Amino acid sequence: MTTIGIFGGTFDPIHFGHLRTAFELLQALRLNEMRFMPAGTPPHRDTTVADAEQRLAMVKAACEGQPGFTVDDREIRREGLSYSVDTMRTLRADFPDHSLCLIVGMDAFLGLPKWHQWRELLELAHLVVAHRPGWRAPSMGPLGELLVDRGTGRINDLHEQRAGCIYIHAVTQLEISSTEVRKLIAMGRDPRYLMPDSVRAIIEQTGCYKSQPKR
Ligand code: ATP
Repeated sequence: MTTIGIFGGTFDPIHFGHLRTAFELLQALRLNEMRFMPAGTPPHRDTTVADAEQRLAMVKAACEGQPGFTVDDREIRREGLSYSVDTMRTLRADFPDHSLCLIVGMDAFLGLPKWHQWRELLELAHLVVAHRPGWRAPSMGPLGELLVDRGTGRINDLHEQRAGCIYIHAVTQLEISSTEVRKLIAMGRDPRYLMPDSVRAIIEQTGCYKSQPKR
């Protein structure tokens, strides 16, 4: 079965923390594809600093030339914020016979029971939790029970089933955050070595982080 990873984020801007995580998962989980999916922006509200087209252009530039990395602009084209479950429904409709792996960070996973219709999410996709080396999975509470029920240590489960498993994988953590990158640029410093040069060039051309960050 073809297995697709889905890596969502605001990517404001995309940086090597995102790219290294995506690359390690692509290789370790033997994904056929890692789809970067920049989040949409609610109309008439400034929730990101760079606008949707700039964030999309940066993600495209970062993925250029990397086999297996693709860009999915459905959330940006849709406009407004969408629940993960709604996005996954549209992906499932587009890829009815594929295995879909939604990549989430540990913070997001720990909040899973608060996600909108999270049980349906697991009917639509697997969850792959990327975490820091040394972290231990919750063994008690609702997430502990969920992991007993849905957790797997078998990568093959992600390829043999289309959805429904939770797989936890340790990835190298680079302490880079988009917020810190924006602050650095707003102070007039160079983000070299924190992101691909092609992304730096777009930031330079558009001047999208020159003023003080809004968040
Ligand atoms: P911000 O600082 O604005 O919150 P961010 O750097 O966390 O941004 P997002 O676009 O919000 O970037 O992140 C998208 C996804 O990438 C999230 O799942 C997040 O947990 C993960 N992520 C962010 N930074 C890193 C990093 N340094 N290493 C690994 N994963 C990361």
